[in-house]
Amino acid sequence: MRIDLHTHSNTSDGTQTPTELVAAAKAAGLDVVALTDHDTFDGLPEAQRAADEVGLHLVRGMEMSCRHDGHSVHLLAYGADPHDAALGAELDQIREGRTGRLGPVLEKLKELGVGVTEEQVRAQVGDSPSVGRPHIADAMVAAGHVRDRTEAFNRFLADGGPAHVPRYAAAVEQAIDLVHGAGGAAVLAHPWGRGRQAQLTADFIARLAHEHGLDGIEVDHQDHDQHARQLLRILAGDNGLVMTGSSDHHGLGKVDHELGCNTTAEDQFSELMSRVEVHAARR
Ligand code: AMP
Ligand code: ZN
Ligand code: FE
Ligand code: FE
Repeated sequence: MRIDLHTHSNTSDGTQTPTELVAAAKAAGLDVVALTDHDTFDGLPEAQRAADEVGLHLVRGMEMSCRHDGHSVHLLAYGADPHDAALGAELDQIREGRTGRLGPVLEKLKELGVGVTEEQVRAQVGDSPSVGRPHIADAMVAAGHVRDRTEAFNRFLADGGPAHVPRYAAAVEQAIDLVHGAGGAAVLAHPWGRGRQAQLTADFIARLAHEHGLDGIEVDHQDHDQHARQLLRILAGDNGLVMTGSSDHHGLGKVDHELGCNTTAEDQFSELMSRVEVHAARR
């Protein structure tokens, strides 16, 4: 069984429609795929129809933006009820915060001499219900200011960069509670990618496991080197956390994140699905 538990469609910042993504997952030889768009469940109905058609097991997912110590953290939710009111209200707030900072970011880019208009950004948004930095980056690429998304982030948009504007996000502890309240399992996405180990320390992750019931951590991810993966495996084992592996595929939006480039072991997947059942039963 080939299981990939973290992918994005153009319902957030991926470049494929949910249908195209599911077809690509099938073609890549995957048996199970989770669609985990940023802060929205909107792509799931279309993905489910496509998955039923091609005979692929779709896991209902979502990648939730949250924070710790002022730094951005991503939390993967599996099996959460898309119609849960409390979680839905939080996602509305995140998406409004993201779209609401578009104007200030565009102001900064203009001052930096690499301006793009709101129309140019909107042209890159696909079916996403909010406008994020990757869409702004795509507009900068289209305007010829940078070569690719990575350059746009590295030079301008990354956290702390010259065109960065912070946005609303809840604390990771609160995000975990909301996911559980919606009957889902909560897995920390790429916890030690992009220098995050300084914020999400091993002690803090252990505390999330024991005091907040964090269900798992993503271990095999392209942003983790072999050493980080090894330490995260030990951390998961010590704290009873499920270990996942996934591509974080974004279509053409991220290089070196091909579907199935990392996968989740069958026993870990089955443990994760058992935890979803437990959270769903507790609601
Ligand atoms: P936003 O939600 O608008 O703050 O944008 C966050 C998204 O931008 C994340 O989900 C990542 O996919 C992407 N991102 C964040 N930092 C970087 C980076 N340094 N390089 C490339 N993409 C990034
Ligand atoms: Zn993304
Ligand atoms: Fe992420
Ligand atoms: Fe992601």
